[in-house]
Amino acid sequence: MSTRNGSERRTQVVVIGSGFGGLFAARALRRADVDVTLIAKTGHHLVQPLLHQVATGILSEGEVAAPTREILRRQENAHVILGEVTDIDLDSRMVVSTVLGRTRVHLYDELIVAAGAGQSYVGNDRFADFAPGLKSIDDALELRGRIFGAFEQAELTSDRAELDRLLTFVVVGAGPTGVEMAGQIAELARRTPRRDFRSIDPATARVVLVEAGPAVLPSFGEELGGSARQRLGEVGVEVQLGATVTDVDADGVDIEYTDGHAQRIPAATKIWAAGVQASPLGGVLAGQSGAEVDRAGRVAVLPDLTLPGHPEVHVVGDMAALDDLPGEAQVAIQGGRYAATAIKRRLAGKAPCGFFRYVDKGSMATVSRFSAVVRIGRLRFEGLIAWTMCLAVHLYYIVGFSSRVTTVLHWLLGFVGSGRAQRVATQQQVYGRLALAHLDPQLVPSLTGGHHGAPQEARELRESRPMRCSPLLEARQMTSQTVDRGE
Ligand SMILES: Cc1cc2nc3c(=O)[nH]c(=O)nc-3n(C[C@H](O)[C@H](O)[C@H](O)COP(=O)(O)OP(=O)(O)OC[C@H]3O[C@@H](n4cnc5c(N)ncnc54)[C@H](O)[C@@H]3O)c2cc1C
Repeated sequence: MSTRNGSERRTQVVVIGSGFGGLFAARALRRADVDVTLIAKTGHHLVQPLLHQVATGILSEGEVAAPTREILRRQENAHVILGEVTDIDLDSRMVVSTVLGRTRVHLYDELIVAAGAGQSYVGNDRFADFAPGLKSIDDALELRGRIFGAFEQAELTSDRAELDRLLTFVVVGAGPTGVEMAGQIAELARRTPRRDFRSIDPATARVVLVEAGPAVLPSFGEELGGSARQRLGEVGVEVQLGATVTDVDADGVDIEYTDGHAQRIPAATKIWAAGVQASPLGGVLAGQSGAEVDRAGRVAVLPDLTLPGHPEVHVVGDMAALDDLPGEAQVAIQGGRYAATAIKRRLAGKAPCGFFRYVDKGSMATVSRFSAVVRIGRLRFEGLIAWTMCLAVHLYYIVGFSSRVTTVLHWLLGFVGSGRAQRVATQQQVYGRLALAHLDPQLVPSLTGGHHGAPQEARELRESRPMRCSPLLEARQMTSQTVDRGE
């Protein structure tokens, strides 16, 4: 590619996100004659489907979150940057990232945006203080601390009502994440710490799965959803359908049922698994390109995953809205690879590769030990065979030989035996998030992620900064900041 001053330089591809979409896009460009800059706000590639096992003490965080830098160390055209992208300027083809006050500006010829989705509390962000979601390593470790901490506190009390509150776990949302969490907490209570306590019987713990809709795992259909519900009952999960959570506080949750009655469930541990909100960067892209954004903040992309008027901007994975595609790892992986192929074809002067076609490789959710549901096209699997398929797929997603080996060992320990090796919980895990947020909202770890990432907040963030007027000019004037890859 020739620049404005006539010299030749390689095409600059900026990839935002090191999740399934971003990482697989970057890897698919390994042999391309391009420079790839992958920017992500975490230094790892996270296998989100295994987060529930980190939260319930089966796996360590390292096993499900390999360092991105290490994954891409042999890919010489890839450059990994730690930073949170806070702005994208489509006209100037520029991305701004920041980490701990260090701001960088990255110029691109092609941009792949795969910043994923965070938790949505559907307008009730205050619930987040008491009911963490499960989207990140921080979330999983906080939940682990809260879950094991509840058993520890229960051991110390002799008050009946307080004991019941401490041993009640409420999971909100009966999608795959909610089902997996509820099933694992029930198993943990029934099997793992049985002999570890003297004053309490952990097996008496009450695990309630609350769902506003009429079914468990509605996206899996009636048959598999029904079978998952039955299995949850067998492992001791109390499933409440048609139950809408109206309030959450430190002591419990308030619920309203479709038949009109209401109930309060006293519970020390609440887990929110009821809704997602795409990265606010979607709003930033939509605002400049005229693309629509749906209720979940996803950008309505063109059939080739690009933005209207911007064939050089590709949006993939959980951020993209196209043909009702689900928020699943395979959608992100295939989208990332497709965007990389589109870029390679354009560079080679070839015709575009046609519209993005998702090859449905199926959906799966584990329910408990030895039980899962799997849907592949018209085929339906459940029970042990489905559970084995889930483990195999999850093992495939884990990066690195040693992590795969230790994962299998931990599975043997946790599923065949009754041990959970990863029970470490620290005060910082449990209180760090809230302490930072309450100390100073500026100290929240993420400006654009998690429940802090409402699109409105991102827009305000963007609009409040002087860079809005003349980003490139201002970026060039910033002496303490680094401009990546000038022309
Ligand atoms: C608990 C849980 C269980 C799941 N189970 C399954 C399952 O069993 N099967 C399945 O197929 N799918 C499952 N999913 C969904 C699947 O994980 C997602 O669909 C997939 O990860 C989406 O990939 P992505 O690349 O779009 O986003 P992500 O994988 O979420 O990656 C987003 C990346 O962007 C980075 N990022 C975000 N904002 C910024 C920013 N402003 N600046 C820089 N970087 C940023 C993040 O750090 C991250 O690296 C599960 C999800 C969760 C949360």
